Amino acid sequence: MTTLNQYDMQDPTKQYFQPKFEEQPQSAPGLAKDMDPKPDHGEESYKGFGRLAGRKALITGADSGIGRAVAIAFAREGADIVMSYLPDEEPDAQEVVALIKQAGRKVVTAPGDISDEVFCKSLVETANTGLGGLDILVNVAGKQTAQKSIADLTTEQLDETFRTNVYAMFWLCKAALPLMPAGATIINTTSIQAYQPSETLLDYASTKAAIVAFTHAFAKQVAEKGIRVNAVAPGPVWTPLQPSGGQPQEKIPTFGSKTPIGRPGQPAELASVYVLLASQESSYVTGEIYGVTGGNHLP
Ligand code: NAD
Ligand code: MG
Repeated sequence: MTTLNQYDMQDPTKQYFQPKFEEQPQSAPGLAKDMDPKPDHGEESYKGFGRLAGRKALITGADSGIGRAVAIAFAREGADIVMSYLPDEEPDAQEVVALIKQAGRKVVTAPGDISDEVFCKSLVETANTGLGGLDILVNVAGKQTAQKSIADLTTEQLDETFRTNVYAMFWLCKAALPLMPAGATIINTTSIQAYQPSETLLDYASTKAAIVAFTHAFAKQVAEKGIRVNAVAPGPVWTPLQPSGGQPQEKIPTFGSKTPIGRPGQPAELASVYVLLASQESSYVTGEIYGVTGGNHLP
């Protein structure tokens, strides 16, 4: 059987597996390799054309989910990559390392905790020395922990969610900017939760709204340097974030069914948007939030 790529026309409602799924609790951060069914990160399907030839990218959360799909796509488009992820995620990360090498690109692994400012600075330095510079920063890593009541949302969780989703983005942007030449690009990852927040995600949705505001403001600040800043806002995507505490477990079986497309998105379906926003093709696009929501559009 020939595997279809992202350019082969097909019915998007039938392109991937449909809810219903089995409950499948994992402890955070969760592993893609333990998900059932397995997410599609473009391993078999993503076809590159050199759209990022010679570019040097730092990608957080690159082991699994959306970050893995971005790493595979960027490598097949010709970029060298520094992968950031948590040490517990080494088994997922090594699968991505093998795929980047198969694409003939350089890969540097940098496991560690981005909720730590010192580590964020070292990550940018790793990219600078490991790749000989940095011209794409993709902030994908995120923490999402559902709580039914504000009474259950601890200060510790609030703090960790903000440090991982907002502070790390700030620290990485701040450290990366002085290294970035004109033409460099930054892509943040917000969520439809910034606009249509769930009652169980008070802290997470607030971080995603902060990422929207930061993206708009930072884009204006650095436009005169020739650096563009955009964000992607996914709807429900089939990744370890969700069964590892991102949703109450009872919501996993029908995850993604309430979109007009009728199913969750797969990480592979996000990759082309990150490629577009990273590449020179989007030269007049900055300060934008790009929705990939299955039809539950941004306002
Ligand atoms: P994922 O679990 O595959 O990726 C999240 C990654 O974040 C992890 O792999 C981990 O490497 C990284 N991470 C978390 N805490 C970290 C820390 N302290 N230090 C270093 N790395 C850390 O899930 P995903 O769904 O691909 O998530 C990627 C991004 O997409 C997140 O920002 C998430 O908020 C966003 N998003 C996801 C969905 C969805 O439905 N899956 C929807 C909207 C937005
Ligand atoms: Mg992971």
